[in-house]
Amino acid sequence: MPIQFQCASCGQPIEVDDEHAGKVAACPFCRHVVTVPAATTLPAATVSARPAGGLAPVWAQTPPVGGVLPPVPAAVPSPTTLTLANLALVCAVVMLVCYAVTFTVVARVAGPALQRAIAEDAPSNEQIRAFEAALKNAPEMAWIGVLSLGGTAVALVGLVLAVLSLRRHRALARAWVALVLCAAPPLCMCSGLLMNVAGGPGGG
Ligand SMILES: [Zn+2]
Repeated sequence: MPIQFQCASCGQPIEVDDEHAGKVAACPFCRHVVTVPAATTLPAATVSARPAGGLAPVWAQTPPVGGVLPPVPAAVPSPTTLTLANLALVCAVVMLVCYAVTFTVVARVAGPALQRAIAEDAPSNEQIRAFEAALKNAPEMAWIGVLSLGGTAVALVGLVLAVLSLRRHRALARAWVALVLCAAPPLCMCSGLLMNVAGGPGGG
């Protein structure tokens, strides 16, 4: 008489021959390692509702004498997943360096004009134009523009890599760090653009 039981992980009904009682097997639905109970634990109606076929578990091993089950290894991220997460982190660091250099140069080039604009609660259009002019006339701005754009592009790449890595392994801390770091600048930039569109200074 077959043994019918429920997977402890995914809850799917599993049916096996009673000769496998007490053995350890991988769930055919979710691959979680389950132990076959000595007798059926499911009402027959539950099991008869499932489609037939494809339910035979892949037998992993029988438990050692004494009935102590071997520890089930925790899910480990694959090398590919780790590589994706590491690349995402590298992107985050490159992006941070790009922005750090950009802000440093902008502060040096347009520092006085920026300070005059910040000193006011509501800087006048004239002060903002002075700040913009100071930036425009600086020879550094040619490569600074490329650098900040490059930083944003790298952040977007890192964002994609972090998401890909997290889809494979959700508990990977470094992928989450990369995700947060890489998501911040594009989000800030989008909200900044929206605010400019909504009611920017100058008005054309
Ligand atoms: Zn399962």
